[in-house]
Amino acid sequence: MRTKIVAGNWKLNNNKKESKQLIKDLKESIKKLKLKDTRVIVAPTFVNLSSSVKEAKKSKIEVVAQNMHQAKNGAFTGEISADMLKAIGVETVILGHSERRTYFNETDAALAEKVDAILENKMETIFCFGELLEDRKSENHFKVVESQLSNALFHLKGEDFKSIILAYEPVWAIGTGETASPEQAQEMHAFIRSIIEKKYTKEVAEKVSILYGGSVKPANAEEIFSKPDVDGGLIGGAALKVADFTAIIKAI
Ligand code: PEP
Repeated sequence: MRTKIVAGNWKLNNNKKESKQLIKDLKESIKKLKLKDTRVIVAPTFVNLSSSVKEAKKSKIEVVAQNMHQAKNGAFTGEISADMLKAIGVETVILGHSERRTYFNETDAALAEKVDAILENKMETIFCFGELLEDRKSENHFKVVESQLSNALFHLKGEDFKSIILAYEPVWAIGTGETASPEQAQEMHAFIRSIIEKKYTKEVAEKVSILYGGSVKPANAEEIFSKPDVDGGLIGGAALKVADFTAIIKAI
């Protein structure tokens, strides 16, 4: 059985007080759900990680980072490293979000180095990838997704690959209100699993959790999560409202 995960990416939202309050409210509202194996994750901004980790202590909520630099230390002004995150109790990092790729020129090569740095620190990656609208329109979406995975992750050994959480996020569905249909999500997730099996083994492919991201809301979560290869969601906008995020968690 694969782990089910619902992760909220807060992006550039919530100051310290708001972050703590959102976690406090979420702790209360998910209590009623009696979650067992489902992981609940939130990703506040860097400056609010420490206080969020403290607020989430002894709860089901895991606090993760939205990004990090691949170097241990050095002349990289404004950056932060894996071991700095680990030192404040953050064990998981989102990498390769489309906004990082688009606005900060994050490349597959840099992502491969970041994933290695995470593994060196015995931490965990939530790896985002997905095609642009033009890729889908030109029916290149499978090729694009395969190359993103192969360039950034396929240098890993099977054992290490198993520790990666994948988040398929078609860029045309992020923050646009346009969601991939449950069938489109399932088709891509099954394809992703098939290429992992080809590169590694069936065991590895069956072990990896693949999340869907892109305008998931309470109204569409249940149908998307019902698909056999969809193991949860990476949620942007709807993760900022306790009621919506809780409803999405409930849908898994
Ligand atoms: C995201 O930022 O990863 C995302 C999926 O955003 P939204 O849910 O707002 O589309």
